[in-house]
Amino acid sequence: MATVPLASATSLYGINAFEGIRGYKNYADNKIYIFRLDDHLDRLRASCAALNIKAEIHREIILDNIRTLTKANDFADDIAIRIVVICDSIGSWSSTEAGSIAIMPVSKRRIDRESCKPLKACISSWERINGKSQPPRVKCGANYLNSRYGLMEAKFNGYDVPIFLNTNGLVAESSGACILAWRNGVLLSTRTTDGRLDSITVNTISQIARSVEIEYSERGLDRMDLYTSDEIMLCGTAVELTPIASIDHISLKGKSGKSFWERMHTKYIEVVTGQNKNFLHWLDKL
Ligand code: PMP
Repeated sequence: MATVPLASATSLYGINAFEGIRGYKNYADNKIYIFRLDDHLDRLRASCAALNIKAEIHREIILDNIRTLTKANDFADDIAIRIVVICDSIGSWSSTEAGSIAIMPVSKRRIDRESCKPLKACISSWERINGKSQPPRVKCGANYLNSRYGLMEAKFNGYDVPIFLNTNGLVAESSGACILAWRNGVLLSTRTTDGRLDSITVNTISQIARSVEIEYSERGLDRMDLYTSDEIMLCGTAVELTPIASIDHISLKGKSGKSFWERMHTKYIEVVTGQNKNFLHWLDKL
């Protein structure tokens, strides 16, 4: 059992850097594959650098620990792994001590498309944090205060998730995921400069889309772009692709038959489980 002192910068001020990573079971070879470990570790290093937290992040040591912990816990199916760089000595928000690294795998199944319930979203009255004050591109605990305000408000008002706009009224992201729109035959994402995390899943989906000749574009999206889209999805490591049914009670146009979300999520699972041979370079077998 690891302990973090109450008077540490992590405990008092939420100063840490972290990643959420997934491992998916391939039922053909019965192995679990870790998805885009290198990209997650690169982003973790970038978050630590921005926060001036010194940490030794070695992929082989981390992968070894994931293997050991997965085995010790008897995880035989899909998993989620939280890697957190913690400032665990006594200090203030300005401390620049070396961080310790915690690696925490838990059992977590992929989304079941059959039972997946499309979510009710609202535009939050809270603005997303921004690059001039607290960059949302740094993945650190303290950024989730803003996420918490938005999610609390959404839930109090009977919605499932918030969608934050930035200072200019453009869509930034949700509280723990990005936003993708399927609109007039084009897959649209916001830009990182609009106030979103540089999402590994958005990048994955964009590469899958291009590989099957679906047009993908990143641009500023406003509220009306969302209201008038055919489909809107949450996109992120934890939520994978999760469909949104309505925004501010306005139902999305939708399409009859097989939805874009269903098609893309099917392809996503093929990639993360190693069934699509074009993307095997993203996988580490446990
Ligand atoms: N935005 C926020 C605020 C998040 O917490 C996440 C989840 N990490 C994402 C976007 C999606 O990023 P990724 O696809 O890299 O998981």
